[in-house]
Amino acid sequence: MHPVMKPALRRGWRDRDTVQFGMTPAHALTIGPMDPATHGFLDLLNGTRGLPLLREEGRRRDLPADRVDSLLERLTRAGLVDDARGGGPAADALRAKEHVLRRLRPDLAALSLTTAEPGGALAGLAARRALRVQVRGAGRVGAVLASVLSGAGVGEVEVRDTGRVEPWDVAPGGLSAESLGERREVAARAAVRRAAPDRPPRHAHSPGSGARDAGHSLVVLTPRDDVSVHAPDPADAEPLLASGTPHLYAGVVEGTGVVGPLVLPGESGCAGCLHLHREDRDPAWPRLAAQWRCPEARRVGACDLTLATAVAGLAAAHALAFLDGGSPSSVGARWEVSVPGLDWRARPLRPHPACGCAAAERDKAEHSSSDGAARETMAVQRPSTERRKAGAARPTGTWRAHV
Ligand SMILES: [Zn+2]
Repeated sequence: MHPVMKPALRRGWRDRDTVQFGMTPAHALTIGPMDPATHGFLDLLNGTRGLPLLREEGRRRDLPADRVDSLLERLTRAGLVDDARGGGPAADALRAKEHVLRRLRPDLAALSLTTAEPGGALAGLAARRALRVQVRGAGRVGAVLASVLSGAGVGEVEVRDTGRVEPWDVAPGGLSAESLGERREVAARAAVRRAAPDRPPRHAHSPGSGARDAGHSLVVLTPRDDVSVHAPDPADAEPLLASGTPHLYAGVVEGTGVVGPLVLPGESGCAGCLHLHREDRDPAWPRLAAQWRCPEARRVGACDLTLATAVAGLAAAHALAFLDGGSPSSVGARWEVSVPGLDWRARPLRPHPACGCAAAERDKAEHSSSDGAARETMAVQRPSTERRKAGAARPTGTWRAHV
């Protein structure tokens, strides 16, 4: 262990013997009592010294070895200390790629805020390199989202789409004006490659390797067709549900951006659940949906560029949070934002008892074991809190389906 104070949080004295780490409420914390000698010792925690050397330096500053040890233990418990050499073999491999790490420095610092364990942030960043994500749909939302995931260090981002790049597909960070008329899929893959901080690592399942397809850690559905954004066809997700593949919906429909649900097959509400709830609420829903699905040739939907970019950003953030082992709030909810107010709001999506995804059975079991008060307050926060607990031990990028 070569301790290094995490650089993500600014340090400041609150009073004579209390130090505050961080500025914002989400991540700031205070430690005290702390005397100036101990505080000065923190500057030695820069990753160049191991424990024996730190104890020796402490002795020179009248800090006995047990004080040094207990200080380090407190700082580590508070999640303030990283290990400059920790994280395992994958982290070591990434550490050797200085040019890549320089690109990802802000991402690494952000990961260090949500990873308490020393070495955990770099291990998390290294784990992203082994992930495989598929993005279906390469319009203004999908191509940008795919590029963002690639730029954030996801090793393999595969884009699927048909047709050729149209002028209205072009977006900063996504499909370029130079790609007009090219095959959309090819142009989107080029955008993904441009965004990547490194050449993709060679996977065991790369073409020609003969290895079995390892499947996707996540599939993101970003249809260019606005009816599919508003009313995703449950049939499209059937193979994903059957194979237990987590999938996330995102897109823009008539000036409304949508992120979610992130479907954990058999655990949280899916497109089928959404469809059935709408049928329950509105008898005219199936009739309307059938009319909307009639194709209109070359119709260009209302998709504000800023809205598309915001949707791509939030969806990529939720995707990454999930891939990093967390539980974003789009599990069990659809986030929506509309022009001109642009205030995000969540619409909870409970599993539907009649849906073939069987998430309702699990939901029922969970609720029968919780108290009545909790049932009353079932809202946006609840699924995320529960999933965080359930997913706490889930290794990065993995998901075992309960179907
Ligand atoms: Zn369902």
